Amino acid sequence: MLDKVQRRNMAAVPVAERMPREIAPGVFWLGDCLAQRHKGKVYHGYNAAFLVAGDDASMLVETGHPKDFPVIERHLNTLFARGVAPLQYLFVTHQETPHCGGLGRILKTFPDAILCGDVSDYHLAFPQYEHRMRWMKEGDEIDLGGRSLMAVEPVIRDLRTTWWGFDTKERVLFPGDGFAYSHYHEDGHCGLIAEEAVSLDLPDVSSTFADLALFWTKFADMNVYCDRLDHLIERLDVKIIAPTHGLPITDVKTTVPKVQAGLKAAALMPETGTNEKVVAAGATP
Ligand SMILES: [Zn+2]
Ligand SMILES: [Zn+2]
Repeated sequence: MLDKVQRRNMAAVPVAERMPREIAPGVFWLGDCLAQRHKGKVYHGYNAAFLVAGDDASMLVETGHPKDFPVIERHLNTLFARGVAPLQYLFVTHQETPHCGGLGRILKTFPDAILCGDVSDYHLAFPQYEHRMRWMKEGDEIDLGGRSLMAVEPVIRDLRTTWWGFDTKERVLFPGDGFAYSHYHEDGHCGLIAEEAVSLDLPDVSSTFADLALFWTKFADMNVYCDRLDHLIERLDVKIIAPTHGLPITDVKTTVPKVQAGLKAAALMPETGTNEKVVAAGATP
């Protein structure tokens, strides 16, 4: 199925028809873009979800941004109508709105679905679903039939409670906030994988995202984190990377160093983002 997807010239397909997109056999990219303005440019970002379909059960990885729930529900229903195994699991990388903001609606809409991962605090927001929450720690696997989803080390993370996911069959890594970068709607990047978006300057958009969303990267030696990332990719033999905010990566060897260059560059720049100083009228600068 991947061959068929990759042989198509996706850039020639209208944006609205690109998703849901199968990025590896049985792994589907779902969701929609979110436009954000920064320094006079319009950046598009994904708050994506992915469906991992096993022989017996499917798992949704991330829920998307709350605004995307109708789109993600439509994409899911399209896939289930095509015969994809029913949704039995939801894995979210961490407790932040773009990653788990549709959690209550997913659990309500799919009453058989079990929430998995680090499930800290979700029972406080959704006490009615507490019996459907299952803790995972590193190395734990959920069997979907012919493949499983494993919780793995979250090298680049936002919250301490983060786990990354890994599909053992097609060796797809789901790194949450790792590999986070925006893309340009004007250049037709929406719904393309990273290697198809040839005009996207990956080091630039990666460093911008790190600057705005991962402030701790300013205070850490990112060489160490990038080395650890290489170690994880090698240990798991990762073939495809499916980030929540970036475009999926299918050429790990070529594309990962570009994202790492962005992380290293952002670490050396002073923080900008929301802290741009505006001198109040009448105040002495
Ligand atoms: Zn995020
Ligand atoms: Zn877009």
